Amino acid sequence: MKAGEGSFLHSVERMIDDAIGCMDLAPGLADQLRVCRSVYQFRFPVKLRGEFHVFEGWRATHSDHRLPAKGGIRFAPEVNQDEVEALAMLMTFKCALVDVPFGGAKGALRIDPRKYDREELERITRRFTIELDRGGCLSPSTNVPAPDMGTGEREMAWIANSYRTLHPENIDAEACVTGKPPQMGGIRGRVEATGRGVQNGLQEFFRHADDVSEAGLQGSLEGQRVVVQGLGNVGYHAARFLEEEDGAKIVGIIERDGALVNDAGLSVERVSEHLREHGGVRGFPDAEYVADGGAVLEAECDILIPAALESQIGEHNAGRIRARLIAEAANGPLTYEGHRILCKAGRVVLPDLYLNAGGVTVSYFEWIKNLSKIRFGRMERRMVETRAQAALEIFEAMLDRPVPAPLAKGLLKEVDELNLVRSGLDDTMRKAYGEIREVWRSRDDVTDLRTAAYIVAIDKVAHYYVEYLL
Ligand code: NAD
Repeated sequence: MKAGEGSFLHSVERMIDDAIGCMDLAPGLADQLRVCRSVYQFRFPVKLRGEFHVFEGWRATHSDHRLPAKGGIRFAPEVNQDEVEALAMLMTFKCALVDVPFGGAKGALRIDPRKYDREELERITRRFTIELDRGGCLSPSTNVPAPDMGTGEREMAWIANSYRTLHPENIDAEACVTGKPPQMGGIRGRVEATGRGVQNGLQEFFRHADDVSEAGLQGSLEGQRVVVQGLGNVGYHAARFLEEEDGAKIVGIIERDGALVNDAGLSVERVSEHLREHGGVRGFPDAEYVADGGAVLEAECDILIPAALESQIGEHNAGRIRARLIAEAANGPLTYEGHRILCKAGRVVLPDLYLNAGGVTVSYFEWIKNLSKIRFGRMERRMVETRAQAALEIFEAMLDRPVPAPLAKGLLKEVDELNLVRSGLDDTMRKAYGEIREVWRSRDDVTDLRTAAYIVAIDKVAHYYVEYLL
């Protein structure tokens, strides 16, 4: 984002205002929906390398109309309070959109995790957990964080373990945070969930030929040329699934140190290995290296997936974006103005509050698993699989020939936790797209998917406020 365009928070507020402008909300309610209910700011010292280091962090709750309030924790060097508030707002509407019965929150610690070793990060995270707990910002029933930029399973495990030490009497302590490793109360499929949801969202979009042609595209995901910005948790999984399972061609990958371009397609797995080994994409064989990564956002392609940071496409570059479909895997990668320019130019934008909701959806499944203390599928797996086997044998006996292999494979699919999670997520993404699409297609005053998504979400939150809250 360039100077003069306003903050990320300002962008989110304007997007919400556009949707509210198309709605008939109860008087005064819009004022509440546009602000965070609380923001807790922390400054705390940690003794490292023989001296005190002071860290600053935040936990913002946008809405607690449903509890717990849910939202990730970001470890990033440039993060600020405005950003955390914007992200908390997005969480409220994201949860509502995908029918996850939570309020919206977000947390952050201003830190460059790459400057600290594992042991130091553990001490900082455990200390941060104590601060969150003291501030009333961590609890399985009221406020449940998850991973976000710069954090993952490891940090969530430290948070869960510290919380349990502080509250040994709380039988639900494990549910104080989601995104934990499966061995520590996590759920299979959570690490891939946001990227998987991006794939499911795109798959659903491509099931609607008229939506696809609205973007100036045609056909299925197979062969679509994709550029991805950010090969972290979200970008890596989304790009890998699109490449390996849908046959999309990843023609550009943008990272911190530049970009790789190859019209014949890049192997996401190989680029990711290179990134892990060398800390950047530079030096990767079989691709052209472009030092100015930002320029590759403007490359000729069908689908652009910004999966790194907010405010990457704004007034300064939106007019030069050539992708027909922009799939917002990151939170807030388009500014308000950037989005407006793209829509005017006939591009279609799949908005963040829909497209990256896979993470919070599977976090919800994990939270339920923690409260119910039972793995999904444990009770019914054997019975369902035995029945499927029996059904297959009956078909084959009646037909007097084998059922074609792809059909048999579908029938005998394992009913394990990972498959159940993937199925629940896919269903969620399909249903939510249907609701957004209905508003987008049926109303003349709604011309883009983002405004439609906000209308669907705000309507659900507003209903809750009007019907059930004082
Ligand atoms: P991550 O830290 O795992 O990955 C971010 C990636 O972006 C890294 O590979 C980093 O090197 C790269 N990057 C950083 N600056 C860049 C730049 N200037 N240009 C190009 N690449 C750059 O983070 P993540 O968890 O994948 O989150 C990415 C985005 O998705 C964020 O906006 C986050 O809020 C959003 N999101 C994440 C989740 C989740 O479950 N992790 C859920 C919903 C939304």
